[in-house]
Amino acid sequence: MLNSDAKIQRMRLTGVVVDKTKAQDVAVESARDRIEKQAEETWSGMNADRSHAYTMDVQLDVGREPKKGDHIIMIVDDDTPDLDGGQGQIDRIGGMTIRLKKGLLQKTPETAMPGEASFERTAAHEIGHAGHLYHPGGPVEKGDKNPVQLHPNDNVMHQTLTKGKDVPPTALKSTSFQAREIQSRVDRGQVNLEPRKDDE
Ligand SMILES: [Zn+2]
Repeated sequence: MLNSDAKIQRMRLTGVVVDKTKAQDVAVESARDRIEKQAEETWSGMNADRSHAYTMDVQLDVGREPKKGDHIIMIVDDDTPDLDGGQGQIDRIGGMTIRLKKGLLQKTPETAMPGEASFERTAAHEIGHAGHLYHPGGPVEKGDKNPVQLHPNDNVMHQTLTKGKDVPPTALKSTSFQAREIQSRVDRGQVNLEPRKDDE
C-alpha cells in the first residue's frame, strides 16, 4: 500500500507503430501489444518508502498516419545501415521517433540470453530515452544526490552490454528517480509525454 500522503505521478505516451520493412510482413498489432504491455509495466512503480508512485499509460495506434505530437515507433529491416550494431535507436534523447529492428521480434525477455536484446526490453529502453533519460552514469545522473539505486541487472536504462557485462533480459525495471526526471523534463517542455489528468 502507498502512504496516505503519497504523490502519484501519471504519464502518458501516445503515438503509432509503423511497419517500415521492405517486405511489409510485420504483425504490427502484436508488436504494438508487446510494446504497450512492457512499457506500462516498466514505467510504473514506486519508491522504497512508498511516498512516490508513478504509472505510464501507453496508447499506440496502428494503421493510421502519424499526427502532430505522436511518438512514432518504426519496425525496420535488420540491415538498416545507419542503425550501426544497435538493435534499437531513438532520433535523439527526448526525441519522438524510435526504430526497432524486425529481428528483435523473435526475442522476448523469456527467450533472450544475457547480453542479448529482446523486443520488449529494447522498446521500453528507447521509451526511457523518449522521456529524456540517459544511460545510468551518463550526464544526467553524474553528481546527482539521488542516484539510481537499481543494479544494472535490474535497470532497463542500462545498455544490454554494460562495461563488458551481459545484462540479463529481465533487467526491465525503472526507478522513481527516473520517473521524476521524466516529469521534470515534461515540466520544462522538453519532452512530449503528457501528464495524464485524473478525470480521463
Ligand atoms: Zn540506450
